[in-house]
Amino acid sequence: MEIIVKKDILSKNKVEARDNRAFAREKGWYLVNVMGSPGAGKTSLIEMLIKELEDRFKTGVIEGDIASAIDAERMEKAGIPVIQINTGGACHLDAASVRAGMEKLPLSEPGIVFIENVGNLVCPASFDLGEDLRLLVSSVPEGYDKPYKYISMFAVADVIALHKEDLIEADGFETAVFEKGLRMINPEAPLYYTSAKTGKGISELTRWLAIRIDSRI
Ligand code: MG
Ligand code: ZN
Repeated sequence: MEIIVKKDILSKNKVEARDNRAFAREKGWYLVNVMGSPGAGKTSLIEMLIKELEDRFKTGVIEGDIASAIDAERMEKAGIPVIQINTGGACHLDAASVRAGMEKLPLSEPGIVFIENVGNLVCPASFDLGEDLRLLVSSVPEGYDKPYKYISMFAVADVIALHKEDLIEADGFETAVFEKGLRMINPEAPLYYTSAKTGKGISELTRWLAIRIDSRI
């Protein structure tokens, strides 16, 4: 009997991710894979970034969820081109499902496409979607120990938003401990303190993103 091990699934994904990259280049899309726990505030952060970026860039969103279209409906109401992917139980997006979303995304112009991954701090770290950038949203209520516990997720991030930063004091969130854990495994990635409630850090993060997008890095 043949047993298919995880390695094969991941190498198949790698090929499909490479195809996604080529497809995105053809379309002129810059792909941002947004990862984080359920309830970290991924959707609200994406909305705020789009608001700041839309003067300069066309934007679209691929929403990944196990079930429902709640986040996509929210984006649609805000007039953002969006497509919802339901993974039907899978706890992460893979390159093939993102490709299906890319083909149906109602965005004909070049621009930025945010891919909101399934809320999960574990396996999305292992699946290349063909993205240009990985944005990790880690929120204050989750606790300051997360970089110590979810090492791969923090290690693969290109940029980190410590979201809901307005709750730092109320939650007794130890920023020094968080930053120390993060820097042990990821010394380079910029860290932004952000809040959808106060708007803090959003324009700084947007500015950093815009530079990356302009230079396609
Ligand atoms: Mg969401
Ligand atoms: Zn998973």
